[in-house]
Amino acid sequence: MSATALTATTWYEQTGIAPPETAGLYDLAPAYDIAIVGGGLAGMSLLRLLGEAGVSAVLFESGKIGSGASGRNGGFCSPGWAADDDKIARLVGSDTAGRLDVLALGGMTWMRDRLRRPGYEAAAPQDGILIVSLSGKPPAKPEPSSELLVGDRLREETTSPRYRFGWASDAGFQFHPLNFLRALARETISGGQTVIENAKVDRIERQQGCFVLASGGKSIRAQKVVLATGGYGGRETGTLARILLPIRTYIGVTDPMPELLDTHIPSRYAIGDTRRAGNYYRRLADGRLLWGLGITAFGTLDVEAVRRMVRKDLGKIYPALARDMDRAGIGIDTAWAGNMGYARHFMPYVGETEPGLFTIAGFGGHGMNTAPSAAKALCQAMMGETEALAPFAALPKQATFGSIGLLAAEASYRWRQINDRLAEALT
Ligand SMILES: Cc1cc2nc3c(=O)[nH]c(=O)nc-3n(C[C@H](O)[C@H](O)[C@H](O)COP(=O)(O)OP(=O)(O)OC[C@H]3O[C@@H](n4cnc5c(N)ncnc54)[C@H](O)[C@@H]3O)c2cc1C
Repeated sequence: MSATALTATTWYEQTGIAPPETAGLYDLAPAYDIAIVGGGLAGMSLLRLLGEAGVSAVLFESGKIGSGASGRNGGFCSPGWAADDDKIARLVGSDTAGRLDVLALGGMTWMRDRLRRPGYEAAAPQDGILIVSLSGKPPAKPEPSSELLVGDRLREETTSPRYRFGWASDAGFQFHPLNFLRALARETISGGQTVIENAKVDRIERQQGCFVLASGGKSIRAQKVVLATGGYGGRETGTLARILLPIRTYIGVTDPMPELLDTHIPSRYAIGDTRRAGNYYRRLADGRLLWGLGITAFGTLDVEAVRRMVRKDLGKIYPALARDMDRAGIGIDTAWAGNMGYARHFMPYVGETEPGLFTIAGFGGHGMNTAPSAAKALCQAMMGETEALAPFAALPKQATFGSIGLLAAEASYRWRQINDRLAEALT
């Protein structure tokens, strides 16, 4: 285990459009109404929405825009939250669960609207997600529009001998998430908002009725602060660091192999399976296959370990493809890790934790629709519509207990893997 994978170049960076031109620390004004910490989809969509509402704000990002999970993820955008519907209903009751469902759909609409605008072409959205099942029991219908695929119809999409059912739907889509973030940042900056990169906020202190944020030896004052730090926040985020766990997950991208993919995975759909510890993958525009899998709660696997893990997992689902890849000398080209922020209940913390201090974090492995939906609600609340945050207020704040929580997360993942194997063998 090492930290190298977090800094490894991703396929998204290799194929990304030019980054936005951001401001430097020394361009900062002494005071702002609102300061956002974190330049992922949560922070950037909130900054854009505030700008559209006529409120100027500043955003600090410790790396580059999209260098956290939002610019290095699987590129699936689908309805729902990281927690499943039953779990949400048990947590907050069916009425509030229904409201959260509507919010998540609103996030999909916001993403699709954006993607239709000039400047977002390189995010290259493509409709269609196929959910496959390895067990003999057909999974619940994921979307009202989903079509059940079995037998030869399923084999037209994927030749894996292990899949027994599939649900295909155009409710979700795949896209290039880093290009999306870069386009959003450009649009937001040209709309007048201030974005500072390579600016880690080290300290946030309340002083004389406002907050002082310190970054790189410079400090500014802000009336309100929003923590949008995902799975990358540290002690500077205070309480948030005690209620969110950073969980690492991994992606590998193969060398180009368009002909092999035409033979083994001809599908236009982005594909994910229903296992609790399953995987997801999609064909990329340049003939490669992106394959996502696995979690670790402690440490980060290095690039070589991720390559091996991806190759092994791919071989379990597509043994014939793996053999053809070996024959053709095709390997796993790029591999990387990313952090997800998880609450114990798998739902995000969105709201005001103390006067003037807000959080919008904890989207887990399902942030591409939920982060903008939460940003919309938070923006409305900051404009005075306090009721907008009511569905999130119903979610309990649960301590994660540091290393004990991490240990529990690893153990639970192993347990899920065992259960997945049992479900496949016994049904
Ligand atoms: C490998 C991987 C695959 C995934 N696949 C999918 C998928 O296919 N579909 C999906 O919907 N979701 C997916 N997810 C989850 C999704 O990417 C996240 O839920 C989402 O990006 C979270 O957005 P965010 O803005 O909250 O966090 P991030 O995008 O992580 O942004 C947080 C930012 O805060 C910055 N930051 C932290 N602390 C500070 C500080 N003190 N000062 C300044 N900046 C700071 C970080 O540098 C980071 O850029 C995946 C996640 C990973 C890691």
